[in-house]
Amino acid sequence: MKGTKSPGSASTFWRKYLRGFESGERNPPCDGCTACCREPKLLVCLDDDEVSSFPEAVQHADGKWYLPKKEDGSCVHLIDDACSIYGKRPSGCRMYDCRVFVMLHSLPSGHEVLTPAILNWSEMRTPTTEDVDVLDAVRQSARRESSVNFGDAVCNAVLTWEDHLEDTRSHRCFARTSLGKQLIAGVAKENAGA
Ligand code: SF4
Ligand code: SF4
Repeated sequence: MKGTKSPGSASTFWRKYLRGFESGERNPPCDGCTACCREPKLLVCLDDDEVSSFPEAVQHADGKWYLPKKEDGSCVHLIDDACSIYGKRPSGCRMYDCRVFVMLHSLPSGHEVLTPAILNWSEMRTPTTEDVDVLDAVRQSARRESSVNFGDAVCNAVLTWEDHLEDTRSHRCFARTSLGKQLIAGVAKENAGA
């Protein structure tokens, strides 16, 4: 299967991920993999200001607009195993990076096409103390929200780390910040009481 590169170290991955978050484009090194475009359970929801650019969009019961699917569950724009509208694909596609599931130590439920692509990435490497702390902190942060839904978990992890970057630019390690300590102590307390 394509996409066999290592996701790299945890801290490097997360910093690049956040830079992509800010720029509106993630550009994971997919190497020709199209699993997220072929996953029947993965829907591309359009932002309000994108809907008019995609006249083929369909409105679902939740009132939101989505790219339609082919009968096999793949995106209608996936032609000959490549995105036929790559240069003007919607923001949901630009922002997608399945490696975040590795970072968060979680898998989407029942996504049979997508899951092997995620597992194809090896675990995040943690060569330094900072890497260990980043991975631990982001996973714990996400776990606090995972009872709500995965999207919230990702957002919470991103926002938590962004706060950390904003508040502690001179610090190298999340777990040594007061925010990190609070977060980790909070989770430890929750676990002890569980
Ligand atoms: S499933 Fe992951 S590796 Fe494959 S195309 Fe999507 S983001 Fe890239
Ligand atoms: S628009 Fe392109 S990138 Fe987005 S799901 Fe469809 S084929 Fe994939």
